[in-house]
Amino acid sequence: MLRAAIDGTEFQFASEISILAAAKQHGIAIPALCFDPRLDPIGSCRICCVEVEGEPHPQIACRTPIRDGMRVTTHSPALEAFRRELLEWMAARVPPASFASDPDKELHGLMRAYAVEPAGKARAGIDASHPYIRVDMSQCIQCLRCVRICDDLQGEFVWHALSRGDDQTIVPDSGTTLEASSCVGCGACSDTCPTGALVDKQRRKANAATSATRTTCAYCGVGCELEAVVSDGRLVEARPVLDAPVSKGHLCVKGRYAFGYVHASDRQTRPLLRERGKWVPTSWDGALDRCAGALQRIVARYGPDSVGVLGSARATNEENYLAQKFARVVLGTNNVDCCGRVCHTPSAAALKSMLGAGAATNSFDDIERAAAIFVCGANPLENHPVVGARIRQQVLRHGTALVVADPRRTEIARAATLHLALRPGTNIPLLNAMAHVIIAENLADGDFLQRRVADFERFAASVASWSPERAAGICEVPADDIRAAARLYATRRPAMTFHGLGLTEHLQGTEGVMALINLALLTGNLGKPGTGVNPLRGQNNVQGAAHMGCDPSVLTGSVPIQENAARFGAMWGATISRSHGLHLLQMMDAALAGRLKALWVVGYDVLPTLANVQVMRRALEKLEFVIVQDLFMTKTAQAVGGVFLPAASSFEKDGTFMNGERRIQRVRKAIDPPGEARSDWEIIAALAARMGHAEQFRYASAQDIWNEIRNVWPEAAGISYARLEHGGLQWPCPDESHPGTAILHATKFGRRERAALEPIQYVPSPETTSEQFPFVLTTGRTLYQFNVGSMSRRTPNTRLRPTDTLDIAPPDACALGLENGEIARVTSAHGSAQLTVRVSAAMKAGEVFASFQDPRIWLNRLTGPVRDRVVQAPEYKVTAVAIEKAPAGRRKQGTSARPA
Ligand code: SF4
Repeated sequence: MLRAAIDGTEFQFASEISILAAAKQHGIAIPALCFDPRLDPIGSCRICCVEVEGEPHPQIACRTPIRDGMRVTTHSPALEAFRRELLEWMAARVPPASFASDPDKELHGLMRAYAVEPAGKARAGIDASHPYIRVDMSQCIQCLRCVRICDDLQGEFVWHALSRGDDQTIVPDSGTTLEASSCVGCGACSDTCPTGALVDKQRRKANAATSATRTTCAYCGVGCELEAVVSDGRLVEARPVLDAPVSKGHLCVKGRYAFGYVHASDRQTRPLLRERGKWVPTSWDGALDRCAGALQRIVARYGPDSVGVLGSARATNEENYLAQKFARVVLGTNNVDCCGRVCHTPSAAALKSMLGAGAATNSFDDIERAAAIFVCGANPLENHPVVGARIRQQVLRHGTALVVADPRRTEIARAATLHLALRPGTNIPLLNAMAHVIIAENLADGDFLQRRVADFERFAASVASWSPERAAGICEVPADDIRAAARLYATRRPAMTFHGLGLTEHLQGTEGVMALINLALLTGNLGKPGTGVNPLRGQNNVQGAAHMGCDPSVLTGSVPIQENAARFGAMWGATISRSHGLHLLQMMDAALAGRLKALWVVGYDVLPTLANVQVMRRALEKLEFVIVQDLFMTKTAQAVGGVFLPAASSFEKDGTFMNGERRIQRVRKAIDPPGEARSDWEIIAALAARMGHAEQFRYASAQDIWNEIRNVWPEAAGISYARLEHGGLQWPCPDESHPGTAILHATKFGRRERAALEPIQYVPSPETTSEQFPFVLTTGRTLYQFNVGSMSRRTPNTRLRPTDTLDIAPPDACALGLENGEIARVTSAHGSAQLTVRVSAAMKAGEVFASFQDPRIWLNRLTGPVRDRVVQAPEYKVTAVAIEKAPAGRRKQGTSARPA
């Protein structure tokens, strides 16, 4: 324990921290301008200088450690005069307009505190090219925070300091505009910049902030925390939360900037009824009466299983819990599912069946503990950017080995030690061959196998024939690279895996995840720090939606219906059907066959999302009654909606989300919903009351619902809202003294001592290339847009990524006579679409990639009917297509892409 005096008061310190941090610990503020807690201190601005007894000169507080017996003075007259002198020098760079419009900038705050007037001149030639960040480097004080945060936190290396001393200038890349540079729009530079040199444009336009509410990002499953800053009742800024456990003071371009959809002019703010083909506004009473009447009529006539309910990632845990409770208690059916069906249900099924829990085994903090990371079928720098940046930083700065299996040479693949550019649809041969190498070269963890793994002999026999040479002939990865990948993963311990939809959205998606789990079991990479099998969940609360019971085969907490129907029935005061319900794809099949008559879709634009759109549309059109509950008039609502219920966004309600590492985090209301829009949970409870179940759905708040969830789901019993005030908690967390569980399977796999290795036979996809359809198309998301674009396309992100593109290898583009920016027609056996060509060296010959995020393109016209063999998720990742230059006169992008 150290003892030191600061400004005459003696304090104790457990460890040797900087004088700046020591003072802060005790509420003593020392001004600093080049310091950011996310970065190593450089002490260049000198503003934080303090006097230390016995030292002849002032010491730099951010770099000088506090020592035993030290006596520090932080604010003497001499220090204050020195600081004022420095600030006057800096004030020569601050124009009065910038001083007034960016009051929150640290330099401007210090100038106010020291009564220093701005003395700079407004400058022409400001770089306003970027939609979110305004650049005026005449206001730069050379603290280098922008350069360092781009390098150290994001790993993008966009900003560069040219020259030295007074001639030093900071430029993006080699001096281009910011928009034209390699910037990925994470905004860390403008967030850290203490001056008006880099400014958040959206914040700059607004009046003074009236509130800042800590909440959780509504985009991907990383679960970054942000402060929603409000001015005049509108969101004007999203600030990263410095002590957030996942994001650690960082956000990506979506979380930081793409919140404008909340105030979009086409937000639906009144309930609507479809009358003679037209949408007509109505009251909530009118809308709920219509819904209750139609559902009661359909259930009475066709039975409870003629209705389906879909929850979604956009809704909170509390709301998904109520959606499935409504299906089971009010309607009497287990026909309830969510958007997880089409993305990571294969992961949940594989992890649950082999390891006993259908969720990530480890935490994002294990990234910094792993010696090797295997990213399989995922593109985290675009789709999970904050986690992607953490992975890349570990590789670039700390030497962690990285293996990436992806058909494309993505940005994360470029950072990899080894990139396995496999042919789409051949994950099983690749993973089986890696298992073969691990066993053949005696790289397995013998002790782990002996203590915790079953069926080794049977499994070893199953992969004996999967030599790397055999796999290489199928997956087109050189045999030596397969060997090298297996050796890296097996010998650089601890090793962890992350996987994405490139592993799950296949005919053998569930089996692909099982094959990955086999590798972790063989090498003992489970139950320890820096290990595990970790699905990168694509949407904010997709893990939570399914785990709350929006799944036809399980109840809340992912427990099987048959064993738990009586327990839940007793708690809910209802009889719960014990038979499995229909999942999303089965609902579509049943609708097509005339057995499903009604559907309630909560927060999910199901029509453009599903593969094989033409058939799915016919199925939806056969329904008698569809309720759509959403922020916007979705494609589904436009096509088949009968009632539209306007819902609140995540910024307009309370609740919780569950991120991809099982962490429950608070969602807090920052603004009121527009017009008559209501929280999903309020709507569900109101409809349940209309249908005679007021008592079972009587809740005063989201917290009330969460407390009921804790009651029915023992693994969350210890996660109270009060505890969530101090940050998220990972389940299992069985009581209020439990710290939560960062790593699963430390001693057991669910109730089992051992997990069994599972032989996986390779079954090629029936979707194969031919003379007619010679290219393989894979589809996916991109950095600037999200899913089918309903949120992100209503923000300036659309300037950064205007539309979907077709990425094609240079030799293929040349052979087809296609150039960058031209429009190509892409045709599969299922439909066609027109896309802008992007000639890309990331692609291999014979393979093309397209995003599916522009509703004008509606890319799922192309994808087909193949489904995962176990959980029936669509095979989005393999479609055989033909490509040609769009015929002259028909080159308007996307015009032929609408479903007929
Ligand atoms: Fe939001 Fe995901 Fe970006 Fe984090 S990484 S800010 S959770 S979209």
